Amino acid sequence: MMEKKQKINALKYANKWLEIIKDENHPKEELSKWIIDESVHNFAEYFNEGWLEDRKSIREAWHFASTEWKGHWGTFQDILGRNYIDFLGWYGLMSHGWSHPKVISAVMAQLKRTPMPSQELLDPLRGALAKIMAEILPGDIKYSFFASSGTEAVEWAIKLAKLYTKKSAFIVAVNAFHGKTMGSLSMIGKKDYREPLGKLYGGEVYHIPFGDADALERQLEICEKIGVWVAGVMFEPVQGEAGGIVPPDDFWPRARELTKKYNTLLIADEVQTGLGRTGKMWGVDNWNVVPDIITTWKALGAWVMPISAFSSTEEIWQVMMYPNPFIHTTTTWGNPLACSAAIAGIEVMISEDLPKQAEEKGNYIMKKLQEFVKKYPEIYESVSGKGLLIGQHFRSKEIGYKVTAIAFRHGLLMTGTLNSAHTVRIEPPLVTSYEEIDRGLFILGEALKEVSKSLKIKKKWTKIDFLNEKVENKNLAIENKNI
Ligand code: PLP
Repeated sequence: MMEKKQKINALKYANKWLEIIKDENHPKEELSKWIIDESVHNFAEYFNEGWLEDRKSIREAWHFASTEWKGHWGTFQDILGRNYIDFLGWYGLMSHGWSHPKVISAVMAQLKRTPMPSQELLDPLRGALAKIMAEILPGDIKYSFFASSGTEAVEWAIKLAKLYTKKSAFIVAVNAFHGKTMGSLSMIGKKDYREPLGKLYGGEVYHIPFGDADALERQLEICEKIGVWVAGVMFEPVQGEAGGIVPPDDFWPRARELTKKYNTLLIADEVQTGLGRTGKMWGVDNWNVVPDIITTWKALGAWVMPISAFSSTEEIWQVMMYPNPFIHTTTTWGNPLACSAAIAGIEVMISEDLPKQAEEKGNYIMKKLQEFVKKYPEIYESVSGKGLLIGQHFRSKEIGYKVTAIAFRHGLLMTGTLNSAHTVRIEPPLVTSYEEIDRGLFILGEALKEVSKSLKIKKKWTKIDFLNEKVENKNLAIENKNI
């Protein structure tokens, strides 16, 4: 009896949401507000209440949480019609902007034909995408295998390095981010996510300061002396979750030389830097380095489908093919729907020269940010980055939050990074227009002015807690409806 009631409830509720999903009109205000309240309730009751406490979209959105609904290029609109300039780019996922029409039309066509693979018949798009990847990957990197998330691509890169070298140690960087499944988690360079789990990957993992080629050399020497054999050395070309940290120019070329000298593999985790984000097709192209293994993800699905990849040379790939070609598989890997998004996304990447756009727009934003750093030394420590992977390093975590909170209320979305508490990223879609950039920088400038003023007030009345200070909690983005 109980089971029947539950089924009826699930059916009714699913049908209500299907009606909403299928309706092409914007929901009326009453329904919009129901969707917001229901989403907050469902997140709290069935997903993760802790998440809600941390969200600007709830804390800084007046009475109604900002709930994502639709967008265009570098601007999006929540369900109540509030417009936001997107300086987050959805954590680097949105290189092609909101729903690039070329990608959407390819995916819609494929959706109607074959969304998922049989894994028994041949699915042509997986092969086609692997060939296109081989054309754009650096040097002699040729073979690719597809998955759905960044952490999977990194797991498999680790597995491939172990399989090929028959060694087990890895050298990685402090403050690195590579994902949160067991293998990739072992390689990240911050305790918050590793410590609660205790022992992770079974082999040795050594962390060196990012960008320090001497430290890498020393670690490789030590490993050789003590007989610990290193399967791979893995870095992000520019550290993303540490806040757009660019290594010195000698770092990648020396890492390449050293890994050859010590007979180990060089892995570039291009999950965030890959496909144009740093102003080149690949982050390692900034230093003309060809690694042995590359991982790709965020931009690959062009924000329409999740698809990641790990790629390597023909020689290394032999261990994926012989003696057991099924040594690594998942049921949905390289599915046609995701491959159609990636094929269309790469076409756009090349035909619209998104890497060049990233380089030029990155330089434009950086120039303005440098002016802000000079003007507000009480707010900023520094800014760093390459292309459109930029980190603003604030004097404190609280100041960073205050700037982003005020900016959000005025209609600019920016957010922090996973591995650096006082850093706020600027990582907009590569197709963002200069009008959108100017508007975003204007809002940022206004937020800085306001924070600077409140810091001065705080200096005068030290008893006032700057953080708990009451600010008008009104979402001004509502006034930006016509951006
Ligand atoms: N590697 C890098 C460099 C990343 O920036 C990220 C995510 O931000 C990952 C791996 C993990 O990707 P995912 O969150 O899809 O597992």
